[in-house]
Amino acid sequence: MIEPFEKPIYVTKPFLPKLEEFCAGLEEIWENQWLTNNGPIVKRFSQEISNYFETENVCLFTNGTLALQIGLQGMGIAGEVITTPFTFVATTHALFWNKIRPVFVDIEPDYYTLDPEKVEAAITPWTTAILAVHVFGHPCQLEALADIANRHNLKLIYDAAHAFGVRVNGESISHFGDLSMFSFHATKLYHSIEGGMLTFQEPSMKKIFNYLKNFGFENEIEVVMPGTNAKMNEMQALMGSIVLKHVDNIIDRRRLITETYFERLDGLAGIRLRPAFAKELNYNFAYMPIEIDENEFGMSRDHFYDELKKYNIFSRRYFYPLICDYACYKKNTVGDPLKVAKRVAEKILTLPIYYDLDLEDVYKICDIIEYIKQRRYKKKTFAAA
Ligand SMILES: *Cc1c(COP(=O)(O)O)cnc(C)c1O
Repeated sequence: MIEPFEKPIYVTKPFLPKLEEFCAGLEEIWENQWLTNNGPIVKRFSQEISNYFETENVCLFTNGTLALQIGLQGMGIAGEVITTPFTFVATTHALFWNKIRPVFVDIEPDYYTLDPEKVEAAITPWTTAILAVHVFGHPCQLEALADIANRHNLKLIYDAAHAFGVRVNGESISHFGDLSMFSFHATKLYHSIEGGMLTFQEPSMKKIFNYLKNFGFENEIEVVMPGTNAKMNEMQALMGSIVLKHVDNIIDRRRLITETYFERLDGLAGIRLRPAFAKELNYNFAYMPIEIDENEFGMSRDHFYDELKKYNIFSRRYFYPLICDYACYKKNTVGDPLKVAKRVAEKILTLPIYYDLDLEDVYKICDIIEYIKQRRYKKKTFAAA
Protein backbone atom coordinates (compact mmCIF):
# COMPACT_ATOMS: atom_id res chain seq x y z
CA MET A 1 0.00 0.00 0.00
CA ILE A 2 1.13 3.50 -0.80
CA GLU A 3 -0.83 6.43 0.58
CA PRO A 4 -1.97 9.08 -1.90
CA PHE A 5 -0.38 12.53 -1.70
CA GLU A 6 -2.10 14.66 0.92
CA LYS A 7 -2.24 17.68 -1.37
CA PRO A 8 -2.77 17.43 -5.12
CA ILE A 9 0.35 17.38 -7.26
CA TYR A 10 -0.40 19.16 -10.53
CA VAL A 11 1.54 18.86 -13.75
CA THR A 12 2.86 22.38 -13.26
CA LYS A 13 2.88 25.19 -10.74
CA PRO A 14 3.91 28.78 -11.41
CA PHE A 15 7.25 29.98 -10.10
CA LEU A 16 6.68 32.78 -7.60
CA PRO A 17 9.55 34.99 -6.46
CA LYS A 18 9.69 36.26 -2.89
CA LEU A 19 6.78 38.60 -2.24
CA GLU A 20 9.17 41.32 -0.98
CA GLU A 21 10.98 41.22 -4.30
CA PHE A 22 7.75 41.88 -6.20
CA CYS A 23 6.58 44.55 -3.72
CA ALA A 24 9.79 46.53 -4.16
CA GLY A 25 9.00 46.65 -7.86
CA LEU A 26 5.40 47.68 -7.19
CA GLU A 27 6.67 50.69 -5.26
CA GLU A 28 8.56 51.74 -8.36
CA ILE A 29 5.36 51.45 -10.42
CA TRP A 30 3.47 53.57 -7.87
CA GLU A 31 6.20 56.19 -8.03
CA ASN A 32 6.14 56.20 -11.83
CA GLN A 33 2.32 56.34 -11.95
CA TRP A 34 2.61 54.51 -15.27
CA LEU A 35 0.82 51.20 -15.84
CA THR A 36 0.96 50.43 -19.55
CA ASN A 37 1.78 51.87 -23.03
CA ASN A 38 5.52 51.17 -23.24
CA GLY A 39 6.29 52.27 -19.69
CA PRO A 40 9.73 52.43 -18.08
CA ILE A 41 9.64 48.86 -16.72
CA VAL A 42 8.58 47.37 -20.06
CA LYS A 43 11.44 49.30 -21.70
CA ARG A 44 13.95 48.03 -19.15
CA PHE A 45 12.62 44.48 -19.34
CA SER A 46 12.81 44.57 -23.13
CA GLN A 47 16.54 45.37 -22.86
CA GLU A 48 17.08 42.59 -20.29
CA ILE A 49 15.33 40.01 -22.42
CA SER A 50 17.21 41.26 -25.45
CA ASN A 51 20.50 40.65 -23.62
CA TYR A 52 19.36 37.21 -22.50
CA PHE A 53 18.44 36.15 -26.04
CA GLU A 54 21.44 37.94 -27.56
CA THR A 55 19.43 39.82 -30.19
CA GLU A 56 18.08 43.34 -30.57
CA ASN A 57 15.22 41.95 -32.64
CA VAL A 58 12.66 41.35 -29.92
CA CYS A 59 9.12 42.60 -29.43
CA LEU A 60 7.08 42.05 -26.25
CA PHE A 61 3.36 41.26 -26.14
CA THR A 62 0.59 40.69 -23.62
CA ASN A 63 0.54 36.96 -24.42
CA GLY A 64 2.06 34.42 -26.79
CA THR A 65 -1.04 33.80 -28.87
CA LEU A 66 -1.42 37.43 -29.93
CA ALA A 67 2.34 37.59 -30.53
CA LEU A 68 2.06 34.70 -32.99
CA GLN A 69 -1.06 36.13 -34.66
CA ILE A 70 0.66 39.46 -35.15
CA GLY A 71 3.88 37.78 -36.24
CA LEU A 72 2.08 35.95 -39.05
CA GLN A 73 0.18 39.07 -40.05
CA GLY A 74 3.23 41.33 -40.00
CA MET A 75 5.19 38.89 -42.16
CA GLY A 76 2.33 38.81 -44.68
CA ILE A 77 1.82 35.05 -44.42
CA ALA A 78 -1.24 33.84 -46.36
CA GLY A 79 -2.60 30.84 -48.27
CA GLU A 80 -1.39 27.56 -46.80
CA VAL A 81 1.04 26.94 -43.97
CA ILE A 82 2.52 23.54 -43.17
CA THR A 83 2.30 22.80 -39.47
CA THR A 84 2.04 20.11 -36.79
CA PRO A 85 -1.14 18.69 -35.25
CA PHE A 86 0.81 17.76 -32.08
CA THR A 87 0.83 21.08 -30.21
CA PHE A 88 -1.26 23.40 -28.09
CA VAL A 89 -4.32 24.57 -30.00
CA ALA A 90 -3.18 28.23 -30.11
CA THR A 91 -0.58 27.37 -32.76
CA THR A 92 -3.35 26.57 -35.24
CA HIS A 93 -5.73 29.26 -33.99
CA ALA A 94 -3.11 31.90 -34.88
CA LEU A 95 -3.24 30.64 -38.49
CA PHE A 96 -7.03 30.63 -38.52
CA TRP A 97 -7.24 34.23 -37.26
CA ASN A 98 -5.08 35.19 -40.24
CA LYS A 99 -7.35 33.26 -42.65
CA ILE A 100 -4.51 30.85 -43.41
CA ARG A 101 -5.24 27.19 -44.12
CA PRO A 102 -3.30 24.85 -41.81
CA VAL A 103 -1.77 21.85 -43.60
CA PHE A 104 -1.06 19.23 -40.96
CA VAL A 105 1.84 16.85 -41.49
CA ASP A 106 3.34 14.16 -39.29
CA ILE A 107 5.93 14.38 -36.50
CA GLU A 108 9.09 12.34 -35.86
CA PRO A 109 8.84 9.67 -33.15
CA ASP A 110 11.78 10.66 -30.88
CA TYR A 111 11.08 14.24 -29.81
CA TYR A 112 7.69 14.74 -31.55
CA THR A 113 8.73 17.68 -33.75
CA LEU A 114 7.61 18.24 -37.35
CA ASP A 115 9.02 15.59 -39.75
CA PRO A 116 10.96 17.44 -42.49
CA GLU A 117 10.34 14.72 -45.08
CA LYS A 118 6.59 15.07 -44.63
CA VAL A 119 6.90 18.84 -44.89
CA GLU A 120 8.56 18.65 -48.28
CA ALA A 121 5.85 16.32 -49.59
CA ALA A 122 3.06 18.70 -48.55
CA ILE A 123 4.28 21.83 -50.35
CA THR A 124 1.87 23.24 -52.96
CA PRO A 125 1.87 26.46 -55.02
CA TRP A 126 -0.16 28.06 -52.18
CA THR A 127 2.33 27.26 -49.42
CA THR A 128 3.91 30.41 -47.98
CA ALA A 129 5.46 29.22 -44.73
CA ILE A 130 6.30 26.41 -42.34
CA LEU A 131 5.06 26.82 -38.77
CA ALA A 132 6.96 24.28 -36.66
CA VAL A 133 6.83 23.87 -32.89
CA HIS A 134 9.77 23.19 -30.55
CA VAL A 135 7.36 20.96 -28.71
CA PHE A 136 8.18 20.27 -25.02
CA GLY A 137 11.09 22.67 -25.57
CA HIS A 138 13.04 20.26 -27.77
CA PRO A 139 14.35 21.96 -30.93
CA CYS A 140 12.94 20.96 -34.30
CA GLN A 141 15.28 19.58 -36.96
CA LEU A 142 16.61 23.08 -37.54
CA GLU A 143 18.93 22.46 -40.49
CA ALA A 144 16.57 20.24 -42.46
CA LEU A 145 13.69 22.71 -42.08
CA ALA A 146 15.87 25.69 -42.99
CA ASP A 147 17.06 23.84 -46.08
CA ILE A 148 13.49 23.13 -47.23
CA ALA A 149 12.39 26.70 -46.52
CA ASN A 150 15.33 28.07 -48.54
CA ARG A 151 14.86 25.79 -51.51
CA HIS A 152 11.13 26.53 -51.75
CA ASN A 153 11.31 30.19 -50.79
CA LEU A 154 9.10 29.71 -47.72
CA LYS A 155 9.19 31.61 -44.43
CA LEU A 156 10.25 29.48 -41.49
CA ILE A 157 8.37 30.30 -38.31
CA TYR A 158 8.80 28.63 -34.94
CA ASP A 159 6.27 28.39 -32.16
CA ALA A 160 8.91 28.44 -29.42
CA ALA A 161 6.36 28.81 -26.61
CA HIS A 162 8.06 25.92 -24.76
CA ALA A 163 11.65 26.74 -25.67
CA PHE A 164 12.69 29.60 -23.35
CA GLY A 165 16.41 29.38 -22.58
CA VAL A 166 17.19 26.56 -25.04
CA ARG A 167 20.53 26.72 -26.84
CA VAL A 168 21.98 24.69 -29.68
CA ASN A 169 25.79 24.66 -30.02
CA GLY A 170 25.76 27.62 -27.65
CA GLU A 171 23.43 29.62 -29.89
CA SER A 172 20.05 30.82 -28.61
CA ILE A 173 17.10 28.98 -30.14
CA SER A 174 15.65 32.41 -30.97
CA HIS A 175 18.30 32.87 -33.69
CA PHE A 176 16.86 30.12 -35.91
CA GLY A 177 14.16 30.61 -38.54
CA ASP A 178 12.70 33.92 -39.69
CA LEU A 179 10.48 34.39 -36.64
CA SER A 180 9.99 32.73 -33.25
CA MET A 181 7.25 33.18 -30.69
CA PHE A 182 7.85 32.63 -26.96
CA SER A 183 5.09 32.42 -24.36
CA PHE A 184 5.57 33.83 -20.87
CA HIS A 185 2.37 32.31 -19.51
CA ALA A 186 2.31 31.38 -15.80
CA THR A 187 2.15 27.67 -16.63
CA LYS A 188 5.37 27.81 -18.65
CA LEU A 189 8.81 27.34 -17.06
CA TYR A 190 9.55 31.05 -17.42
CA HIS A 191 6.74 33.59 -17.10
CA SER A 192 5.60 37.20 -16.72
CA ILE A 193 2.15 36.19 -15.33
CA GLU A 194 0.98 36.30 -18.95
CA GLY A 195 3.16 37.53 -21.74
CA GLY A 196 4.71 36.77 -25.07
CA MET A 197 7.57 37.72 -27.34
CA LEU A 198 8.60 37.62 -30.96
CA THR A 199 12.22 37.32 -32.05
CA PHE A 200 13.11 37.74 -35.72
CA GLN A 201 15.98 38.11 -38.19
CA GLU A 202 14.86 41.16 -40.16
CA PRO A 203 15.36 44.31 -37.99
CA SER A 204 12.79 46.37 -39.94
CA MET A 205 10.01 44.06 -38.69
CA LYS A 206 10.25 45.56 -35.21
CA LYS A 207 8.50 48.73 -36.31
CA ILE A 208 5.68 46.76 -37.96
CA PHE A 209 5.12 44.58 -34.88
CA ASN A 210 5.11 47.68 -32.65
CA TYR A 211 2.42 49.26 -34.83
CA LEU A 212 0.34 46.10 -34.91
CA LYS A 213 0.32 45.65 -31.13
CA ASN A 214 -0.69 49.29 -30.52
CA PHE A 215 -3.60 50.02 -32.91
CA GLY A 216 -1.23 51.11 -35.67
CA PHE A 217 -0.48 54.44 -33.97
CA GLU A 218 2.44 56.39 -35.41
CA ASN A 219 1.72 59.38 -33.19
CA GLU A 220 -1.25 61.18 -31.63
CA ILE A 221 -2.93 61.91 -34.95
CA GLU A 222 -1.64 59.28 -37.37
CA VAL A 223 -2.71 55.63 -37.66
CA VAL A 224 -0.68 53.80 -40.29
CA MET A 225 -2.18 50.31 -40.16
CA PRO A 226 -5.18 48.53 -38.64
CA GLY A 227 -3.45 47.18 -35.55
CA THR A 228 -4.92 45.61 -32.46
CA ASN A 229 -4.15 45.85 -28.76
CA ALA A 230 -1.54 43.35 -27.60
CA LYS A 231 0.80 45.39 -25.44
CA MET A 232 2.60 44.10 -22.36
CA ASN A 233 1.87 46.11 -19.19
CA GLU A 234 4.15 47.22 -16.34
CA MET A 235 3.05 44.53 -13.86
CA GLN A 236 3.80 41.81 -16.39
CA ALA A 237 7.20 43.32 -17.18
CA LEU A 238 7.98 43.56 -13.47
CA MET A 239 7.25 39.88 -12.92
CA GLY A 240 9.13 38.98 -16.11
CA SER A 241 12.16 40.97 -15.01
CA ILE A 242 12.25 39.31 -11.58
CA VAL A 243 11.67 35.76 -12.84
CA LEU A 244 14.43 36.29 -15.43
CA LYS A 245 16.92 36.59 -12.55
CA HIS A 246 15.88 33.13 -11.39
CA VAL A 247 15.55 31.37 -14.72
CA ASP A 248 18.95 29.64 -14.76
CA ASN A 249 18.14 28.32 -11.30
CA ILE A 250 14.71 27.18 -12.46
CA ILE A 251 16.21 25.27 -15.38
CA ASP A 252 18.88 23.64 -13.15
CA ARG A 253 16.21 22.50 -10.76
CA ARG A 254 14.14 21.01 -13.61
CA ARG A 255 17.22 19.20 -14.89
CA LEU A 256 17.55 17.49 -11.53
CA ILE A 257 13.89 16.48 -11.48
CA THR A 258 14.12 15.15 -15.03
CA GLU A 259 17.27 13.15 -14.22
CA THR A 260 15.49 11.65 -11.24
CA TYR A 261 12.52 10.60 -13.35
CA PHE A 262 14.86 9.13 -15.99
CA GLU A 263 16.82 7.17 -13.37
CA ARG A 264 13.70 5.70 -11.86
CA LEU A 265 11.58 5.11 -14.97
CA ASP A 266 14.20 4.05 -17.52
CA GLY A 267 13.77 0.37 -18.27
CA LEU A 268 10.32 0.07 -16.69
CA ALA A 269 8.42 -2.11 -19.17
CA GLY A 270 5.68 -0.25 -21.01
CA ILE A 271 7.09 3.23 -20.32
CA ARG A 272 9.04 4.97 -23.06
CA LEU A 273 11.16 8.00 -22.30
CA ARG A 274 12.58 10.36 -24.89
CA PRO A 275 16.05 9.31 -26.15
CA ALA A 276 19.08 10.98 -24.54
CA PHE A 277 19.47 14.66 -25.46
CA ALA A 278 22.23 15.61 -27.90
CA LYS A 279 25.51 16.93 -26.43
CA GLU A 280 25.22 20.18 -28.40
CA LEU A 281 21.79 20.87 -26.90
CA ASN A 282 21.26 22.98 -23.78
CA TYR A 283 17.77 21.78 -23.05
CA ASN A 284 15.37 23.60 -20.68
CA PHE A 285 13.53 20.55 -19.27
CA ALA A 286 10.22 22.27 -19.96
CA TYR A 287 8.09 19.11 -19.83
CA MET A 288 8.39 15.49 -18.75
CA PRO A 289 6.53 13.46 -21.40
CA ILE A 290 6.39 9.67 -21.30
CA GLU A 291 4.61 7.17 -23.56
CA ILE A 292 2.53 4.36 -22.10
CA ASP A 293 2.38 1.17 -24.16
CA GLU A 294 -0.88 -0.52 -23.22
CA ASN A 295 0.27 -4.10 -23.86
CA GLU A 296 3.58 -3.88 -22.07
CA PHE A 297 2.42 -1.66 -19.23
CA GLY A 298 -0.74 -3.64 -18.55
CA MET A 299 -3.17 -0.77 -18.88
CA SER A 300 -4.04 1.98 -21.31
CA ARG A 301 -2.71 5.52 -21.00
CA ASP A 302 -6.18 6.79 -20.07
CA HIS A 303 -6.64 4.13 -17.40
CA PHE A 304 -3.21 4.95 -15.96
CA TYR A 305 -4.03 8.67 -16.02
CA ASP A 306 -7.17 7.94 -13.95
CA GLU A 307 -5.23 5.68 -11.55
CA LEU A 308 -2.70 8.46 -10.90
CA LYS A 309 -5.56 10.78 -9.97
CA LYS A 310 -6.55 8.38 -7.17
CA TYR A 311 -3.13 9.12 -5.67
CA ASN A 312 -3.68 12.88 -6.07
CA ILE A 313 -1.28 13.08 -9.03
CA PHE A 314 -2.66 15.14 -11.90
CA SER A 315 -0.70 14.37 -15.04
CA ARG A 316 -1.83 15.76 -18.41
CA ARG A 317 -2.39 14.18 -21.80
CA TYR A 318 -0.36 16.73 -23.78
CA PHE A 319 -1.04 16.69 -26.70
CA TYR A 320 -4.24 14.75 -27.04
CA PRO A 321 -6.48 15.04 -29.00
CA LEU A 322 -4.52 16.12 -32.06
CA ILE A 323 -5.54 19.59 -33.28
CA CYS A 324 -7.02 18.16 -36.49
CA ASP A 325 -9.46 16.14 -34.34
CA TYR A 326 -10.97 19.14 -32.55
CA ALA A 327 -14.49 19.96 -33.73
CA CYS A 328 -13.45 23.35 -35.11
CA TYR A 329 -10.75 21.85 -37.38
CA LYS A 330 -12.45 18.58 -38.32
CA LYS A 331 -13.66 19.91 -41.67
CA ASN A 332 -10.09 20.69 -42.67
CA THR A 333 -8.90 17.90 -45.00
CA VAL A 334 -5.62 16.27 -44.00
CA GLY A 335 -3.52 14.62 -46.72
CA ASP A 336 -0.84 13.09 -44.49
CA PRO A 337 -1.93 9.90 -42.65
CA LEU A 338 -0.28 11.29 -39.46
CA LYS A 339 0.73 7.80 -38.41
CA VAL A 340 3.24 8.82 -35.75
CA ALA A 341 1.18 11.71 -34.38
CA LYS A 342 -1.89 9.51 -33.99
CA ARG A 343 0.06 6.80 -32.20
CA VAL A 344 1.82 9.27 -29.90
CA ALA A 345 -1.41 11.14 -29.04
CA GLU A 346 -2.87 7.84 -27.73
CA LYS A 347 0.17 7.09 -25.56
CA ILE A 348 1.53 10.40 -24.36
CA LEU A 349 1.36 11.59 -20.76
CA THR A 350 3.25 14.48 -19.17
CA LEU A 351 4.33 14.07 -15.55
CA PRO A 352 4.53 16.82 -12.90
CA ILE A 353 7.59 19.04 -13.15
CA TYR A 354 8.03 22.46 -11.58
CA TYR A 355 10.57 24.47 -9.61
CA ASP A 356 9.51 23.58 -6.08
CA LEU A 357 8.58 19.95 -6.68
CA ASP A 358 10.65 18.13 -4.01
CA LEU A 359 12.84 15.26 -5.18
CA GLU A 360 11.21 13.24 -2.37
CA ASP A 361 7.91 13.78 -4.14
CA VAL A 362 9.42 12.74 -7.48
CA TYR A 363 10.58 9.50 -5.80
CA LYS A 364 7.11 8.98 -4.43
CA ILE A 365 5.49 9.63 -7.84
CA CYS A 366 7.80 6.97 -9.29
CA ASP A 367 7.01 4.56 -6.42
CA ILE A 368 3.31 5.03 -7.18
CA ILE A 369 3.85 4.46 -10.91
CA GLU A 370 5.67 1.19 -10.16
CA TYR A 371 3.04 0.18 -7.63
CA ILE A 372 0.13 0.81 -10.03
CA LYS A 373 1.91 -1.25 -12.67
CA GLN A 374 2.73 -4.15 -10.31
CA ARG A 375 -0.73 -4.30 -8.83
CA ARG A 376 -2.18 -4.39 -12.30
CA TYR A 377 0.20 -7.18 -13.25
CA LYS A 378 -0.78 -9.23 -10.17
CA LYS A 379 -4.47 -8.77 -10.90
CA LYS A 380 -3.94 -9.99 -14.44
CA THR A 381 -1.94 -13.10 -13.51
CA PHE A 382 -4.46 -13.87 -10.78
CA ALA A 383 -7.31 -13.64 -13.28
CA ALA A 384 -5.40 -15.88 -15.67
CA ALA A 385 -4.73 -18.58 -12.98
C1 LIG B 1 1.19 28.24 -24.24
C2 LIG B 1 1.31 28.04 -25.70
C3 LIG B 1 0.89 28.99 -26.63
C4 LIG B 1 0.12 30.21 -26.24
O1 LIG B 1 0.78 31.06 -25.42
P1 LIG B 1 -0.04 32.06 -24.46
O2 LIG B 1 1.03 32.92 -23.90
O3 LIG B 1 -0.71 31.21 -23.43
O4 LIG B 1 -1.00 32.81 -25.30
C5 LIG B 1 1.11 28.75 -27.97
N1 LIG B 1 1.72 27.64 -28.40
C6 LIG B 1 2.12 26.69 -27.54
C7 LIG B 1 2.80 25.46 -28.09
C8 LIG B 1 1.92 26.84 -26.18
O5 LIG B 1 2.26 25.86 -25.32
